[in-house]
Amino acid sequence: MHIYTDPKELQRQCLFWRREGLRVGLVPTMGYFHAGHLALMDCARKQCDRLVVTLFVNPVQFGAGEDLDKYPHDFDGDKDKAESKKVDALFVPMSRDMYAPDHATWVEVPELATHLCGASRPIHFRGVCTVVAKLFMLTQPNVAVFGQKDWQQLAIIRRMVRDLDIPVEIVGHEIVREADGLALSSRNTYLTEEERAAAPAIRQGLLKLADKVRGGERDADKAAAFLAEEYARTLPMGRPDYITLVDPDGIRPVKAIEGPVLAAVAIQMGKARLIDNILIEV
Ligand code: AMP
Repeated sequence: MHIYTDPKELQRQCLFWRREGLRVGLVPTMGYFHAGHLALMDCARKQCDRLVVTLFVNPVQFGAGEDLDKYPHDFDGDKDKAESKKVDALFVPMSRDMYAPDHATWVEVPELATHLCGASRPIHFRGVCTVVAKLFMLTQPNVAVFGQKDWQQLAIIRRMVRDLDIPVEIVGHEIVREADGLALSSRNTYLTEEERAAAPAIRQGLLKLADKVRGGERDADKAAAFLAEEYARTLPMGRPDYITLVDPDGIRPVKAIEGPVLAAVAIQMGKARLIDNILIEV
């Protein structure tokens, strides 16, 4: 595995691979690898000849007062894990090499970024789209794998790729969970023991909601209120940022549930803001 810090050097290597006719796979991450990240790497590995993993805590997707400075990191651990997944190139750039002091170009998909996480994190998805577009330019991937845990991010990236005719196949990977159902996240490390013990209620509530909808509930507001009550009872230490049912592609809130619907939640648990979702087919 080669570690790249210089964007242009990585780009030269990836362009070379593409000229050689090799399929390049990309997994963008912010590091502090867990089994979710490693599953994305396995998934990409199967679909490419050269696997590029990027590890970059992208400052422009963090708002003021968010956890940019505290984001967990363990470079040596990540390096070993990436090596064990037969990653060919691990890209670990410095912010100053990704963003010139007079960086002035942004990519956004505002229509899909007004609800869910976009509501409380107004600049987040602009930062995500911009860095992912840059990573696509730098690595020239045939295929890029993203997690469904960040469903809104995945929907936005799919739309960006379609609208800008970026020649990459986007693959969404299912959510990887702990045995008790908690979605794996680098941010789980912020949880106290007590919060960690309570956190599986996030997933359990979503499963109950799915049962309710499959059982005939068609009013999305009532379904969301049901989940809010459920969390008030089972997760009193959690402060919901949102509990919303949206259409899975357009990320617009639905009123009447008439087709597939995504129930998505963000719950503040102490220092950690945890997100999870479930796709409900009716
Ligand atoms: P992050 O490092 O948190 O930005 O995540 C990098 C990629 O891993 C994103 O595409 C995430 O959606 C994905 N990811 C993070 N956690 C999980 C998980 N528990 N299951 C599946 N994918 C995940």
